[in-house]
Amino acid sequence: MTLNTTYEKIPVTTLASGFELFFPLHRLEGRRPGPTLGLSAVVHGDEPLTNEVVRQVLMRLDPAELRGTILAMPIVNTLAFESLTRHTPIDMLDLNRNFPGGPSGWLSEQMAHVLGTRFVSQLDAHVDLHTGGVFPTVDYVYLFERSRELSMAFGSTFLFAPSNPYPGTFSIPAREKGIPFFTAELGGGSFLDAHYIEHGVRGVMNVMKQLGMLDGEIVRPPRQTIVTEMAVIRPQVGGMLHPEIGLDQLGKEVKGGTLLARVLSPHTFETLEEIRAPFERGYVILLRGGLMRVHPGDYGYMIANAETARD
Ligand SMILES: [Zn+2]
Repeated sequence: MTLNTTYEKIPVTTLASGFELFFPLHRLEGRRPGPTLGLSAVVHGDEPLTNEVVRQVLMRLDPAELRGTILAMPIVNTLAFESLTRHTPIDMLDLNRNFPGGPSGWLSEQMAHVLGTRFVSQLDAHVDLHTGGVFPTVDYVYLFERSRELSMAFGSTFLFAPSNPYPGTFSIPAREKGIPFFTAELGGGSFLDAHYIEHGVRGVMNVMKQLGMLDGEIVRPPRQTIVTEMAVIRPQVGGMLHPEIGLDQLGKEVKGGTLLARVLSPHTFETLEEIRAPFERGYVILLRGGLMRVHPGDYGYMIANAETARD
């Protein structure tokens, strides 16, 4: 199947190897006027599933049925993707903590600056797609100022409205421009990929319906919950992580004190750490879906406080 897009390259800089660094960009113009929606994927290089979500969205869209324009960047951090790392290998920085960046900063800051001035500057709304990375699996969307309708429309069961958002994220150029932006977190860990690709495609289509770019009903889950208090549980020691709850528990309620996983020494096999659920009642937002190696300080589990959640 062929794409109905025009393909462009947004130049960033010349690398030490002499190769040109650029951002790949697909432009899909609808036959009728409407807003410009930006999609971005693989800002973190270890989240390749989002690239496939963008490909499938572009394949399924018919310009005859589209109002407005899609500007889709299927892979933002090409250098990090190549090494399958979260951070840009050349300067070891997390691109998603270095916005708005600047033309004379570190490489990641230069990339952030170009993204703001050459990509987000063209948009009326922006959705940034993420996953849990190589190992964890995740399912929620962020709820930011100005993004309420679009975040809800995406159709995830859990929405997270953080009281202290991470600094330096891709939300900054959108906020400076005054347009809605949100981050969707879906899948990862190479578990349930087909399910999460479909979830992502449906979510983007829902956002387009909310923006009036596509006709049709928004597909929503039976219930949506906004959480405001989230515990990010990072193992204090590394080793082999043995999960005590399965993938089927993602999005489910968990009682405080429940054993989520154990970290075993790969040498002596003794249990070095037990990871337990905080909060009297919590929702499992991110988990580890199988037996795997874990570093101290990795994203282990994310549990939202059910007591401070609202429908
Ligand atoms: Zn990410």
